[in-house]
Amino acid sequence: MSNFFSENFSKLPNSKTSIFAIMSGLANKENALNLSQGFPDFKSDYHLIELVNRAMLNGYNQYAPMPGVYGLREAIAEKFEKLYQEKYNPETEITITAGGTQAIFTAITATVKKGDEVIIFKPAYDCYEPTVELVGGKPIAIQLDPESFKINWEEVKSLINSKTRMVIINSPHNPSGKVLSKEDMQQLEKILKNTNILLISDEVYEHIIFDSQKHESACLYPGLKERTFIIASFGKTFHNTGWKMGYCAAPAYLTTEFRKVHQFNVFSVHHPTQVALATYITNEQNYLNLGNFYQQKRDFFLNLMKESRFKFIPSKGTYFQLLNFSDITNENDFDFAKRLTIENKIATIPISVFNEQNLDTKVLRVCFAKTEETLQKAAEILCKI
Ligand code: GLN
Repeated sequence: MSNFFSENFSKLPNSKTSIFAIMSGLANKENALNLSQGFPDFKSDYHLIELVNRAMLNGYNQYAPMPGVYGLREAIAEKFEKLYQEKYNPETEITITAGGTQAIFTAITATVKKGDEVIIFKPAYDCYEPTVELVGGKPIAIQLDPESFKINWEEVKSLINSKTRMVIINSPHNPSGKVLSKEDMQQLEKILKNTNILLISDEVYEHIIFDSQKHESACLYPGLKERTFIIASFGKTFHNTGWKMGYCAAPAYLTTEFRKVHQFNVFSVHHPTQVALATYITNEQNYLNLGNFYQQKRDFFLNLMKESRFKFIPSKGTYFQLLNFSDITNENDFDFAKRLTIENKIATIPISVFNEQNLDTKVLRVCFAKTEETLQKAAEILCKI
C-alpha cells in the first residue's frame, strides 16, 4: 500500500509475511495436513500442564521478576552444569524470554549498531536477517551448499573485517537438520580469537539430535563462551510451542546489555509457566530422551517415504526433514508447496525463503513432530505425488 509519508516509509521494505504464517494459514484454509510450521501435533506432558495450573491457583499471576523467576534461572544453571560442566550465574547470566525468537531479536538489537556486519549462514531461520536490518546492521550472507550444508570456514575468515560485529550459528540447523561438529566449533573459535566479534548460538534444538551425535554447545568452547548469547527454547523441548518460553544464557557483560532491551520489549514473561518449568526441568528424564523419541519418528516417516519420488538425506537433528522434488516437477518450490497444500491437502515449507536471493533448490521442508497416524497419512499423500 502506498503511504503519504514517503515511498521509503517501510523499515523492512524487503520483508514479507513470515512463511510460517503463510503456510499455516493456507493449511487451515484448505483443511490440509500441516507439516509446514514446526510444532508437535501431540500433547505436552499432562504433569507439566498440571504444574502450570497449580502455579496459577497458587497466585503466581502478576509480573514475574524482569530477568525471570529465580528458581527457573537456577534450574537452568544446574542443567548447564550437569550437561556441559559449564557454569552460568543465574543472577547475572541467564534471562527468561518469550521464546527463542524474542531472545534472538533482543540479543541483536542490544548489540548490533548501524553499519555493523553480521555473518549469517543460508538457509537461515527467517528472523535473523530482518532483525539485523531493523537496527541498521548489514547481513553478510553465506549460502551453504544445498546438499552438504557444510560451512567453509576459510570463506568465513575472508569475510571478517573491522566492521564485523557478530556471527550467527544454528546447530542442529533449521531447516537442514545439519549438526556442527567439534572441528567446526574449534575453527570458529580460532577465527574469532583476538577479535571483538560476538556470537549468537541458536541452540533451540539442542536435545533433538540423532544417530548418537553429541550437541556441541558454544559454551563448551571458552573462546566462544566469552562472546556468546546461547538461545534456547522450552517450546521445542517440552512440546508446547504456543507457550512461547525460552531463555538466553550469556556472560554478565552481554546479559546486562540484553536486559536493557528485554525490559522494554517484554519486561518479563508468563509467570505461572516459569514457576512450573522451574520444577519440571529438574527431572532430566523430561529432556534427555528427546533425541530417541524424535529419531523414531524420523525413521518411521522416512521408511514410508522410501516408496516416494522425493530424494532425501536423513536429518541429523531438529524435527525437520528436507525432501528434494527435482525428479517430480520443474515448478519453483513456493508454487509447488502452494499447489500441494491446495490440491493434495498437505502443507510444507519451500526452503527458498531461507536461502540467499531466494535460491530455489527444489527442496521442501517437512516437520515430523507428529503422531505416527499423521506421519502415515502424510507419507501416503507424498508417495502418490
Ligand atoms: N521455528 C519454527 C519453524 O521453523 C516456527 C517458528 C515460527 O512460526 N515463527 O517452523
